[in-house]
Amino acid sequence: DRIVSGAAGNAEAVFERALRPKQLDEYVGQTKARAQLEIFISATRARQEALDHVLLFGPPGLGKTTLAHIIARELGVNLRQTSGPVLDRPGDLAALLTNLEANDVLFIDEIHRLSPVVEEILYPALEDYSLDIMIGEGPAARSVKIDLKPFTLIGATTRAGMLTNPLRDRFGIVARLEFYTTEELTKIINRSASLLKANIDPEGSIEIAKRARGTPRIANRLLRRVRDYAEVKGTGTITKVMADAALKMLDVDPSGFDVMDRKLLEAILHKFDGGPVGIDNLAAAIGEERDTIEDVLEPYLIQQGYLQRTSRGRIATRQAYEHFGLTPPSSSAN
Ligand code: ADP
Repeated sequence: DRIVSGAAGNAEAVFERALRPKQLDEYVGQTKARAQLEIFISATRARQEALDHVLLFGPPGLGKTTLAHIIARELGVNLRQTSGPVLDRPGDLAALLTNLEANDVLFIDEIHRLSPVVEEILYPALEDYSLDIMIGEGPAARSVKIDLKPFTLIGATTRAGMLTNPLRDRFGIVARLEFYTTEELTKIINRSASLLKANIDPEGSIEIAKRARGTPRIANRLLRRVRDYAEVKGTGTITKVMADAALKMLDVDPSGFDVMDRKLLEAILHKFDGGPVGIDNLAAAIGEERDTIEDVLEPYLIQQGYLQRTSRGRIATRQAYEHFGLTPPSSSAN
């Protein structure tokens, strides 16, 4: 298991639910997205209408699912959850939609992976709360129109660019989630530690925060591993020394990079002379899927200034050379 991978495993899902904030005021960071949602939510609540459809996008683990649940709770409505790849037949979507109560939230994770036939019947549902579905087959087939109660679709995706234009156009509220600062992650770690009844000192939590790739899911995951380490190797209190030793053992370096991050950067530096290198060549060189590189690995490396995405391919920046103790060529990107 990748320690810094974006996705949550099964055992982790249980633990995540326990740590998930339930109210907007417990949701740390994302000030821009939160500010706009607060306004729309309170206006909608006052009018007792369904909130406009919401698209949340950003790398895995930044809090899209958490935010969807909070929105439903703040609106005082139910949330039904599904995901793009699971929802493969129009009938499944129709069943979900017809079972919603007025103003409920339907949350579709990985909405960029909806099948085209399902997406097609979603359009009228989003636009005027109606479904056009075909019943029967062959000459007996006929189309029936079903009226739905008003509802809100919350879609989550790792990259907004992966949505078809007609689908993207149907979201009235689009919020991009950003990587968290060390300070924000420290808050999240302290809150989680108190829920887990773990002893942590301030430097311990800052050390974990700095190495969590700007991602709450990773921060919580590292906290749990470091707690185990501190219990076995120390007195149980998570100090900076304990955190550092545990993270070293887990192969998470001082910048929060794990084996795959380093492999990617090193491949660009050593095999491709610092780049530019095309994504497919890079994927082949490190034996990782292109989607994982684009959704999980790259966004943080780009945000932190180690990597640049150009029209000719990926380029290692000066900072990437320096990270590995190499001398950047005089022409290298900043
Ligand atoms: P995503 O859906 O974007 O992959 P999740 O919503 O599942 O991410 O978040 C992963 C975990 O990170 C959650 O279980 C939650 O505990 C934590 N988390 C995410 N965002 C926040 C936040 N803003 N404040 C506190 N904890 C958060």
